[in-house]
Amino acid sequence: MQRYFVAADQFTETQVRLTGEDAHHAARVMRMKPGDKFIVSDGAARTAIAEVKDASATLVEADIVEQLSMDSEPLWSVTIAQSLPKGDKMELVIQKGTEIGAYAFAPFQSERMIVQYDGKKEAKRLERWSKIAKEAAEQSHRNRVPVIEQVQSWRELMQGIKNYDLVLFCYEREGDAAHGKGIRTAVQEWILPSERSGKQTSPANIMLIVGPEGGFTDREAAEAETTGAVLVGLGKRILRTETAGIVGLTCLLYESGEMGGA
Ligand code: SAH
Repeated sequence: MQRYFVAADQFTETQVRLTGEDAHHAARVMRMKPGDKFIVSDGAARTAIAEVKDASATLVEADIVEQLSMDSEPLWSVTIAQSLPKGDKMELVIQKGTEIGAYAFAPFQSERMIVQYDGKKEAKRLERWSKIAKEAAEQSHRNRVPVIEQVQSWRELMQGIKNYDLVLFCYEREGDAAHGKGIRTAVQEWILPSERSGKQTSPANIMLIVGPEGGFTDREAAEAETTGAVLVGLGKRILRTETAGIVGLTCLLYESGEMGGA
C-alpha cells in the first residue's frame, strides 16, 4: 500500500488531506479513486490506513479507517555523519541509508574533501536531500522521516560527539583484521554485559562517521579518537565513501538484531 507522510495538522482523528506533490502523486501517478486506500503517517507517532473520498491533483481527501500501531523503527538510532562527497553521491547515501533504517544524516566538512563547499547552495541542497529522505521513507514503510542536519564544520562534528552513546569513526587503516577493530568488537565492548549475546533491548544513539573520497588524515583520526570516537575498520577492502556508510549502518543494525529473524 502506498504511504504518505503529512504534517500533523493535515491529519485529524477521522480525516486526512493530501496536498501539493503528495496529492499530485496520489491522484495522477497512482491514479487513486474514491474507495482506494493508502497508509498515512505524521512522521512521528501516528500511522493509519485512509480511504479516499475525493481525489484531484491538488487535494485528496480521505477518511481514516484504521489506526495502525506498527513500528518499523530500529531500536538503535544511527546517524550517518558523512564528509561531503562529490556530485550527487550524498543522495545515494540518504536514499539507501533511509531504506536500511538510518535515524539521521549529518553532512560535514573535512580536510581532504574533494568537493568545494558552497554555503550559498546549501538551503536548496538540504531541501532536495529532505525530499529524497521523505520519498525513501515512504517507499520503505518507515514510521518516521530521517532528519537531515545542516552541514557542520569538523569542529562542530567533534563537539557533537559527546551527545551520542557510541561514536564509530570509519578509518580504512583499521580495515586490517589483524590490527584494527571491527564494528562487532566495538559494539560488544560498549553494550551492557547482560545484552552481549541475544536480543538488544536498550535504545541507543549512535553516530557513524565516514570520510571523503580522499580519506581522513591521521590528525583527524587521532583527534576523533581522543574526543571519544572508536576507530573501526570495515574489512580489508577500501570502500567508496558512498558505500562505507551504507555498509557500516547495515553491520550496526545487524548487531542490534534488527535485520530480520527471531
Ligand atoms: N582515499 C582513501 C580511501 C577513502 S575511502 C584511500 O584511497 O586510501 C572513503 C571513506 O570510507 C574513508 O575515509 C572511511 O571513512 C571509509 N572507508 C572505506 N573503506 C573502509 C574500510 N575498509 N574500513 C573503514 N573505513 C573505510
